[in-house]
Amino acid sequence: MDMDFTTITKKGMILKGVPASPGIAMGTAYLYTKEIPRVEERALSEHEIDKEIERLCRAIGKSSKELNKILSFAQQKVGEGKAKIFEAQIMVLEDQILIDSIKQRIRSERKNAEFIVSSEIGKYASLMLTARDEYMHERAHDMEDLKNRIIRNMQQEKLVSKVEGSIIIVAHNLTPADTMILSRNHVLGYATDLGGITSHAALVSRSLKIPAVVALGDVTREVETGDFIMLDGYSGTLVIHPTEQQIAEYEQKRNRMLQFEAQLVELKDLPATTRDGHSIELSANIELPEELEYVVLQGSQGVGLFRTESLLIGRDDFPSEEEQYHEYKKIVDRLYPQRVIMRTFDIGGDKIAPEMAEEANPFLGWRGIRVCLDRPDLFMNQLCAMLRASMRKNLAVMFPMVSTIEEVHRAKEFVKKAKAELRSKNVKFDNTMSFGVMIEVPAAALNAAQIAAEVDFLSIGSNDLVQYLLAVDRGNNLVCNLYQELNPAVLVTLKHVINAAHKHGKWVGICGEMAGHPLAAPLLVGLGMDELSVVPAVLPEIKKIIRSLDYKQMQKVATTALNFSSADEVELYLRKFIKKAIPDIPLDTDNS
Ligand code: PEP
Ligand code: MG
Repeated sequence: MDMDFTTITKKGMILKGVPASPGIAMGTAYLYTKEIPRVEERALSEHEIDKEIERLCRAIGKSSKELNKILSFAQQKVGEGKAKIFEAQIMVLEDQILIDSIKQRIRSERKNAEFIVSSEIGKYASLMLTARDEYMHERAHDMEDLKNRIIRNMQQEKLVSKVEGSIIIVAHNLTPADTMILSRNHVLGYATDLGGITSHAALVSRSLKIPAVVALGDVTREVETGDFIMLDGYSGTLVIHPTEQQIAEYEQKRNRMLQFEAQLVELKDLPATTRDGHSIELSANIELPEELEYVVLQGSQGVGLFRTESLLIGRDDFPSEEEQYHEYKKIVDRLYPQRVIMRTFDIGGDKIAPEMAEEANPFLGWRGIRVCLDRPDLFMNQLCAMLRASMRKNLAVMFPMVSTIEEVHRAKEFVKKAKAELRSKNVKFDNTMSFGVMIEVPAAALNAAQIAAEVDFLSIGSNDLVQYLLAVDRGNNLVCNLYQELNPAVLVTLKHVINAAHKHGKWVGICGEMAGHPLAAPLLVGLGMDELSVVPAVLPEIKKIIRSLDYKQMQKVATTALNFSSADEVELYLRKFIKKAIPDIPLDTDNS
């Protein structure tokens, strides 16, 4: 009934968001809720009861494993006192009386486990909330958290098996982990209420080549599971129950874009060299080892950024050195003789959370190299695994989120230690393996010369650098107009970093999203960037731009761009330049 009603009232309704990953998708919507799981009451038949109890037990087991991991993180990081919150949650999970009474109720009331868990644990939480004591109130929130964790674990298991066929995920927000876990089903597209173009979920969908539109505002209220929707990742629109005419228009557009993409195929084996013979290393960013074949097909010259956090997805512990070694080796073997740059774990921010106490400002908190330096066990495992995988000499490693020179020194000490450890075990590695630093914190950009003197290369992480330079959350749509990659402050900073690296005879690349924007490419090359590492989907287009222009021309473009005083002026200038110099490049506003 509901669906029929929606079909009539919302037919052809268009929601406008921000395009996050190109492509057009049409399919059935699946509403994915995570933050506060929605619990439905469902009657069970006799034969479903045992299975339901098994499902409950698995979710409890998984929740307990997660909580134990959080507990050990918390003990190390925030001390025993605060970590007690998690101990208390584990104790509740191990409370046999509570568990028995949940099981008992599932049997006697014949209701689904989520419903009974919600009611039984919810009962305690409400009781605590009625107390006048502040301490008890906080414990009530902990009970709510625990309840949601168990329910989420039950629902996730169900989701993975339930989401069959082709669907478009509609969610309030998606973490990179959600995006990847969900993509293991046949997902045609993602649409979210929140998010910005460089949010990690957006990056993940781009690298998975799944169309995505973020910042749609209210999409989770407007769309229901089962609705037929159409998603345009070029212009950032979502249409609910599209009309025949809308479908025809979108199909035409899809064909147009596919034709342009087909033109680029012939560039596959050609180098990224300008018309006057200046060569740029054009490599790809990858999130998942599964992307490698696609990267090769796209004609990449290597991998400029492998975000190793993907190894942590869907698991509640850290992979061992051995496991990591095998994963890394597969990648370097597949791409040999091309170079692969791996980044050490960049945990925190909006990426895989270190699963511990919440931080008020995660982007200014415990992330990137800070976590690695605080967790020697984890860092050593990863460095040893990478060194072991380096024997073909085509692996380089870089450190994320560096802000001080001391961090560089300390990271290098760890590398020394890892090498010594391997030597003591007679394990071979490439002793000349290059180490670099990502420049993504303004302090590191300003001190780029000192950093460059210490390492083999620099790689600019423009997603974070822009966020921190302009104090704009990269994932927050409310301030997305202020997220300006072409802001003069950004351009001056890029030039400063490039000069600093070159002064020390080191090469410098850029691996943030900016590197893959057609408008920015001539500017970046003209500024003197030695390497551009881009999402695989846009690589052929960027290659086409580089091959269509002279280096001298791009240097002029960069000099002119550095003289403007606003991002709008820079953008207008670049837009005009590309339109005139390479008219067949479709710029984003041409797509809508
Ligand atoms: C960046 O910040 O530009 C970058 C490449 O790293 P990530 O997007 O993974 O934070
Ligand atoms: Mg970054």
